Amino acid sequence: MIKLIDINKTYPGIVPLHVLKGINLHIEKGELVSIMGASGSGKSTLLNILGILDNYDSGEYFLNGTLIKNLSENRAAELRNRMIGFVFQSFNLISYKNALENVALPLFYQGVSRKKRNILAMEQLDRMGLADRAHHLPGELSGGQKQRVAIARSLITNPDIILADEPTGALDSKTSHDVMKIFRDLNRDSGMTIVIVTHDPGVGEQTNRVIRISDGRIV
Ligand code: ADP
Ligand code: MG
Repeated sequence: MIKLIDINKTYPGIVPLHVLKGINLHIEKGELVSIMGASGSGKSTLLNILGILDNYDSGEYFLNGTLIKNLSENRAAELRNRMIGFVFQSFNLISYKNALENVALPLFYQGVSRKKRNILAMEQLDRMGLADRAHHLPGELSGGQKQRVAIARSLITNPDIILADEPTGALDSKTSHDVMKIFRDLNRDSGMTIVIVTHDPGVGEQTNRVIRISDGRIV
């Protein structure tokens, strides 16, 4: 599903910062893995490359057999929308749209009709146990509920892979555990490939494989 070969990435600047130093990584379809490392070790940079949100300088990245390199912004967006669901620490929900509208939004960009969007969004919310919160704004939801809305949104396009950057970073330990259970259930019951970036060993423990990154290298 994911194959990285000798990936390097440097942020330019007065003092250029070599953040990823020859990353080699294979993640198979159906895996539930965590990428663990200290703050500043390059986890988000790596996840942004996996999510086709950012470019790399050298090496090769294959996603589902497609070489992801020097893509136009349109092509990158097309692959992203079709193949990848994102979950972030800060939820990234739109504050003036209700839960249902937030979940439905990716389908709007795919040109799906409003009626169909709403039916599919309600199904995903229901799956997350949030049908009764569909018409609430994010500000009226708890942190755990917000993250479940974000997970519902990430699933609505039926992606090949879910990429999550510190998805429990803003949650207390009980809620964090609930969110990790959702990821584990999705992986076990639907075979969804899930990659979770975290600095929390407790989160890493709840995945099936831990990949460790330190100072831009897999260790
Ligand atoms: P992590 O997610 O593991 O905390 P990051 O990938 O966010 O690490 O950052 C790795 C290093 O790259 C850090 O030193 C960070 O300050 C730096 N960095 C991250 N993003 C940028 C950027 N857009 N421009 C310059 N430096 C960056
Ligand atoms: Mg980070």
